[in-house]
Amino acid sequence: MLKTHSCGALRAADVGKEVTLAGWVHLRRDHGGVIFIVLRDRAGLTQVVVDQDQSPEAHTFASEARSEFVLQVRGVVQARPADQVNTEWPTGEIELEAQEIHILNPSQTPPFYIYEDSPVDEALRLRFRYLDLRRSRMQHAIRLRHDVVQFIRNFMNEEGFYEIETPYLFKSTPEGARDYLVPSRLHPGEFYALPQSPQQLKQLLMVAGFERYYQIARCFRDEDLRGDRQPEFTQLDLEIAFAEREDVLDLIERMFTALVPAVTPHKRLLSPFPRLSYAEALERFGSDKPDLRFGLELVDLTEALRESEFGVFSGTAAAGGRIKAICAPGVADYSRREIDELIEIARNQGAQGLVTLAFRADEVRGPVKYLSQDELDAVQQQTGAGVGDLVCIVADEPAVVAAALSALRLTFRDRLELVDPDLVAFGWVLDFPMFEWLEEEQRWDAAHHPFTMPRPFTLEEMRANPLGVLSDAYDLICNGYELASGSIRVHDPRIQRDIFRMLGYTDEAFEELFGHMMEAFSYGAPPHGGIAPGIDRLVMVLADAPNIREVIAFPKTAQARDLMADTPSPVSEEQLRELHLRLREEEAPDAGEA
Ligand code: ASP
Repeated sequence: MLKTHSCGALRAADVGKEVTLAGWVHLRRDHGGVIFIVLRDRAGLTQVVVDQDQSPEAHTFASEARSEFVLQVRGVVQARPADQVNTEWPTGEIELEAQEIHILNPSQTPPFYIYEDSPVDEALRLRFRYLDLRRSRMQHAIRLRHDVVQFIRNFMNEEGFYEIETPYLFKSTPEGARDYLVPSRLHPGEFYALPQSPQQLKQLLMVAGFERYYQIARCFRDEDLRGDRQPEFTQLDLEIAFAEREDVLDLIERMFTALVPAVTPHKRLLSPFPRLSYAEALERFGSDKPDLRFGLELVDLTEALRESEFGVFSGTAAAGGRIKAICAPGVADYSRREIDELIEIARNQGAQGLVTLAFRADEVRGPVKYLSQDELDAVQQQTGAGVGDLVCIVADEPAVVAAALSALRLTFRDRLELVDPDLVAFGWVLDFPMFEWLEEEQRWDAAHHPFTMPRPFTLEEMRANPLGVLSDAYDLICNGYELASGSIRVHDPRIQRDIFRMLGYTDEAFEELFGHMMEAFSYGAPPHGGIAPGIDRLVMVLADAPNIREVIAFPKTAQARDLMADTPSPVSEEQLRELHLRLREEEAPDAGEA
């Protein structure tokens, strides 16, 4: 190695040793006869002192060095004078007196500071990702990601799982998104699909008798990249034969309960993980992935306000809608403008409007003249509103009420800083509906995926009341994110076929797409189930990062571009010909700003 020690290793006990360090110029201060260089490598920072009188040649190189030059420094470890000890650095008691310096490689002036965590335009960071990754926050995030993945591997190995790779070049899997397709050169006109997840393959591994499988799996989904998504992302994919729901939940709960303190000792967990049914999550929080770190639960006022003179309330109740509220503490003095912002948030979720009641010391502000004293008392009592609180009421269709109040709940979470940032609130959401109705496409879709076991499972029962069919799916939620989805699977080919019939597939299409799987299932498929926690999102939560790009070494932009390699990019006519492809003149899809 070009170094004997790392830049984070030397301590007072090393004083007097002759050592060689190698790393990047983090900072440089030129005091004429003496130059101070802070040398950085992955492990830390060490101060190097270069004295012109003692090492004139080293001093010459040190004067040439600039930020991010790569240096090798040989010298002797010295104790720093007592008044110069840096208590913030593990190496702060010592410095290296340079005897010899080699410039291993110079550097252009970086486009942004590496040595400080100043805000930098994200496009610039992504364009120079290898420099961005040198900054300490990114070094920590990527290191944390390593720790998380290694912990998971060790845990899974100890639990008797085999790590098995599955192919990237495979066949379309109905996970709900668009596939990335790979044209085949050898088979003109035919395509592989990159897996949206290894769902089919892991189930086939259960048929194959491996019983306990896992993989740190890359998944590919060509979705419209609204929100915090990436075209490729990583899951801990796992599957267990002969498992019941409780076995999967127990495994994951034990794993995360051990993982969080191991990799982030300053974080706290809720234990055991709270469990909610899907219906209860919507009822209490208006969301199937509620942030459980704080209360502000939804209160049902439908009965209390059913007879109200206020037409919005009585009309909604009469039409079968719901009237629900949350009580925001201490914001009864919100201005008109602040209330208008809340109304806008509710409207963005489809609500017609938002009624607010501000419980001020001297009066209740809002449309009180339409409410009787009894109704006002009921609102106050049921929401627990005290002086200074603001009750936000939405009257609408149940789904709209849920979405609007959930959005408001999260708004208050952030504005009023209602959560402890070091709390990692995992929870389980259970008993999902099996099917959801796609209004635009006028058809049923699987709410999780079609390989999930429905209850009840006969075609007649499913057809009779699709919305009443529950499934053996479960979600792990964490701080308002869906961190994992999984389910107990269908292992009976007939039930599987019926589910696809429900989803509108002809038997021929089903055979064409899943014949290989059903054939496998006809050779003794064990009952099985699994789950797939998202690694990116997990690390994001543990790193307190604002989005998953902060915990992925080389992410793509929200428009699915790699700004560093400038890709996707055109390919040569020659390459297209080999793949039997010809480009069509067509408008590019609207991908927003590139
Ligand atoms: N394949 C599923 C997903 O990616 C997870 C699972 O059911 O295990 O969401």
